Amino acid sequence: MRLGSFELLSLSDGFFRLDGGAMFGVVPKPLWEKRAPADDRNRILLGIRPLLVRSGSRNILIDAGIGDKMRPKDVEIYGMDRARHLDHSLADAGLSASDIDVVIASHLHFDHAGGFTVRDGDTLRPRFPRARYYVRRAEWEDATHPHERNRASYLAENFVPLAEAGVLEFIEGDGEVLPGISVEETGGHTMHHQLIKIQSGGRTAVFVADMMPTTAHVDEAWIMGYDLYPMDTLLAKKRFLREAIEGEYVIFFEHDARTPAGIIREQGGKKLVEPVIS
Ligand SMILES: [Zn+2]
Repeated sequence: MRLGSFELLSLSDGFFRLDGGAMFGVVPKPLWEKRAPADDRNRILLGIRPLLVRSGSRNILIDAGIGDKMRPKDVEIYGMDRARHLDHSLADAGLSASDIDVVIASHLHFDHAGGFTVRDGDTLRPRFPRARYYVRRAEWEDATHPHERNRASYLAENFVPLAEAGVLEFIEGDGEVLPGISVEETGGHTMHHQLIKIQSGGRTAVFVADMMPTTAHVDEAWIMGYDLYPMDTLLAKKRFLREAIEGEYVIFFEHDARTPAGIIREQGGKKLVEPVIS
């Protein structure tokens, strides 16, 4: 879709599955399974949708999916289906990895940062050879000093090679990182998780990442059990939802299996997502 001077393309790195209970926190299964049916292992289907922002000849990628470094055991556990992955999706847009100029990370969990690096023989290197990678410094600190509760999500192979290759740009706080593209810390999911806002021609699009991973998560209380600070997610969502409904923002849902983007409308006290791409 067009947004002022930008072109926005929701890409795909395939699909995977996570435990439905963990995806919806305190929401009981009889409620969530109406929106996201579970398989025989209680897992629900999720998309993996990095966002490509094109500005003239410049290509900016927000998050990069799971990538291809996962062990066969994890491919099985997460029911990963990458028959069509990010390289295919970029090719559909007439691009390859070497056309990406900038990569921006919402946070460094493996399903967002896995595609940042690739294996090259015995070593690991940046997946996008010409790109600078923008990472929030405080998120980097947390990812490189994991604890028991977040260790399974932060895999050093996805981001440490970026530092070794000297391609990192640290984001110190909220604000514009490139013309028309800004970041805002949401906290909640991780302490320094951030959303990415794209503004042009009087319109706003937002890549909300794991603050609202699917359209089912636009309800305030539908917060993931994975979140480290769920009350911070609640506060950030409430503030953001008011702003998004009033401003008719286009929201990109990174993990929705069916609806990559939509506008949130309020009708009779209920929040609905009107799809803009499907
Ligand atoms: Zn995450």
